[in-house]
Amino acid sequence: QNTRYLESQSQRESNARSYPRRLPIAIQEAEGIYVKDMDGKVYYDCLAGAGTLALGHNHPVVVDAIKQMLDSKRPLHTLDLTTPLKEQFVDELFASLPEEFAKNARIQFCGPTGGDAIEAAIKLVKTATGNRSILSFQGGYHGSTHAAMSLSGTLGQKEKVNGLIPDVHFMPYPYAYRCPFGVGGEQTHELSSRYIENLLDDPESGIVSPAGMIFEVVQGEGGSIPAPVEWLREMRRITQERNIPLIIDEVQTGLGRTGKLFAFEHAGIIPDVLVLSKAIGGSLPLSVVIYNSKLDVWKPGAHIGTFRGNQMAMAAGLATLKFIKEHDVPGNVEKLGQHLRNHLNELKLDVNCIGDVRGRGLMVGVEIVNAKAALDQLGHYPQYPELARRIQQECFNRGLILEVGGRHSSVMRFLPPLIVTQQQLDEIARLFSEAVH
Ligand code: PMP
Repeated sequence: QNTRYLESQSQRESNARSYPRRLPIAIQEAEGIYVKDMDGKVYYDCLAGAGTLALGHNHPVVVDAIKQMLDSKRPLHTLDLTTPLKEQFVDELFASLPEEFAKNARIQFCGPTGGDAIEAAIKLVKTATGNRSILSFQGGYHGSTHAAMSLSGTLGQKEKVNGLIPDVHFMPYPYAYRCPFGVGGEQTHELSSRYIENLLDDPESGIVSPAGMIFEVVQGEGGSIPAPVEWLREMRRITQERNIPLIIDEVQTGLGRTGKLFAFEHAGIIPDVLVLSKAIGGSLPLSVVIYNSKLDVWKPGAHIGTFRGNQMAMAAGLATLKFIKEHDVPGNVEKLGQHLRNHLNELKLDVNCIGDVRGRGLMVGVEIVNAKAALDQLGHYPQYPELARRIQQECFNRGLILEVGGRHSSVMRFLPPLIVTQQQLDEIARLFSEAVH
């Protein structure tokens, strides 16, 4: 059965599709952290909609919220017109933010995807500052729309597309394992901060007045790379001192994934603009930007789009957010992430193809390396995309769905639903270990 569906799909679908090529599965049912294919084979889903499914598939609170919505006479689509549900959603979201941010914050509902909210964030800071260039980071990922893609620090989608938005300056992300300065450790983030500050203060660099800086607190698609809290604080200081709006892209990290409700909370900083999507729609499409009211100088209609503020997604998202807060999901995620990394670090001692195990909360990455190649100046083996693909396939054969990411497609990315249990993580680690051996 699975094969029949996959064959018919492969005849009709675009060449641009990626996951179905690598993960040949036709999904019939899903529950919690499991998906079942057309032949009844069950898989652990550690892709979880690329981090969207915070509560896993079809969580009862999400399903109930959707059912209640359908059984009521509440509207399913209202453009930007307000509804009691929208008010409730915004109240809950603002009550979840640090007080210092929420008290001066404004919200703009965006189109259904994270990419659209990134577009809005960029337009917002350009309008507010009158400036045009954006500081972005090597390895960052912000979406597939034209501007969001232009800001992304990976070649992937951009390679064959001409005429990207100009004036994006890519800065070195504090990726200690592959340190852009060739030193590694603590020095990576210190040098990154110093380099950025120096460029901003050098009139000859041509980037003295950017419209904004954008980054992820943990680079997701870039290979599950957490930025140290000291670096995050430095970026906040550097941007604050120069009046550069700081946009934090929490499309993937938001709502508990890293062990805090919002990842910027690890560093005790406040962004000027926060971008949220994925989990806030409780598995349905929704995205928002929340920003300091001092930036709110754009005019009515400055960012529009038919499917902003999907009511059903607000219902599902509200239920998700409440559950996450009521059950201290971020606190559990912190412990579970550590548990998973402990397993993976043990495995690293046992095999020579794992170069690095890293992450924050349940955003965990394992960098696959080629131990037959020469060591680099940091004493690390190079990335090994072919082996990463093979491991992904071996995992898949054993019933474990993992994403492969990172700048050289060599990072096995673990993004399980946040409701995963310790026992399930033990099993996931066991299957991964088998696949690696
Ligand atoms: N920003 C980040 C950090 C993301 O991880 C993603 C999606 N993986 C996006 C933006 C884009 O979101 P979407 O795919 O919904 O446009």
